[in-house]
Amino acid sequence: PASSMDEVVALCKRRGLIFPASEIYGGIANTYDYGHYGVLLKRNVTDAWWKAMIQERDDIVALDSAIIQHPRTWEASGHLAGFSDPLVQCLGKCKKRYRLDHLQEEAEAKGEDPALVKCPTCGGDLSEPRAFNLMFQTNIGPVQEEGSTVYLRPETAQGIFLDFKQTLNYARKKPPFGIAQIGKSFRNEITPGNFIFRTLEFEQMEMEFFVPPDEAEQWYEYWCQERLNWYVKLGISPERLRLRPHDAEELSHYSSGTSDVEYLYPIGWSELEGVANRGNFDLTQHAQFSREKLEWKDPQTGQGYLPHVIEPAAGLGRTMLALLCEAYDQDDIGGETRTVLRLHPTMAPIKVAVLPLLRKDGHPEKARDIYTDLRKRMSAEYDEGGHIGKRYRRQDEIGTPFGVTVDHQTLEDDTVTLRDRDSLTQERVPVADLARILEERIGG
Ligand code: ATP
Repeated sequence: PASSMDEVVALCKRRGLIFPASEIYGGIANTYDYGHYGVLLKRNVTDAWWKAMIQERDDIVALDSAIIQHPRTWEASGHLAGFSDPLVQCLGKCKKRYRLDHLQEEAEAKGEDPALVKCPTCGGDLSEPRAFNLMFQTNIGPVQEEGSTVYLRPETAQGIFLDFKQTLNYARKKPPFGIAQIGKSFRNEITPGNFIFRTLEFEQMEMEFFVPPDEAEQWYEYWCQERLNWYVKLGISPERLRLRPHDAEELSHYSSGTSDVEYLYPIGWSELEGVANRGNFDLTQHAQFSREKLEWKDPQTGQGYLPHVIEPAAGLGRTMLALLCEAYDQDDIGGETRTVLRLHPTMAPIKVAVLPLLRKDGHPEKARDIYTDLRKRMSAEYDEGGHIGKRYRRQDEIGTPFGVTVDHQTLEDDTVTLRDRDSLTQERVPVADLARILEERIGG
């Protein structure tokens, strides 16, 4: 794995996976763009999440709710009043502002005393904390008048609660069942972000699982384990993953139990995902504010109740960052240092690179034919530019697990060499078997 965040940042920039947004204007704090390979990696992560949440189960349905909801939503959810975080300002030279809780978490991850935090930029003392709301505000309509204020959602979860009743009407589900969605959320984060770990806009993968109240504890335990295992399936070593239950003072106002799935990033153990037992807090609040009945009514007994909710809330950016840190490696081939992303094949942006050995003698034509065939079945790339070793280095750095080389022998016996990114073995395989062999090794 990576030993520093800087080497991952540098690789992402060099190969165009992730880079600072608005760079021609000098950039904008805590905001990044995802380039070609970054987009492909992102899609592999969201596909894996959908597969685990929707395709492989029949008790969860999908949703894509609006980013801008009725402003009462955030009154009911507590975000307007309660989503205020303690803001501190440096009293020393730099005068920068930070969120106290973030500084304390970072100190704790480094094994330092969180009560003694100083300004991370200049070492100055920090002011007393004051409340700061993290929601981005904007207005509907041309004039800023009372009642026109709306908010960009700070989490996707509330959209799910607003549509709980609607979903019951059509989905033919009863508790225990879940609603899952992936989408952008926005938070006015002011603490410097550690690359994509903490950004102003970020994608969340959230699922609200509605259960009979007396089953809440059992489902909470279940989802903690499920979610932990999911990251192992994506290729993260269990050694660098842990579940950390929140202690009493850390718990949110709505939660009777929360555990963070944490990854050992180069910056220390930090949150990848939170799994929370939210009780019936959200449905109670929205029922009160909207005056709608948000109960589940058992058709057999006629009895109604407010389901309790277990919420696994994951961050797409943080998952990608964990995968990149985990996969980053350097080894030595023939006296030269090679940088390689040892991504699980299902996560790799490109599964196979097809490379003609020479730019002549019919190699490019044959390689193109093979590539055109393969790309119907998997994400593939054709590359004929430059020395073959250089082309492999490039594929290694974007984590391509397999390389296919077309040489003079290919034109004689219709076989190619298949190179494995990790073991560096090269074997001769018939072109006719190539797609099948690759699909078997990629799995998924
Ligand atoms: P933190 O305290 O680390 O800012 P949080 O505990 O406030 O995070 P939650 O509200 O539990 O985060 O959000 C669920 C998940 O959404 C987090 O585990 C994280 O993966 C992701 N997330 C939250 N805020 C951000 C952000 N600013 N940038 C990127 N991802 C985020």
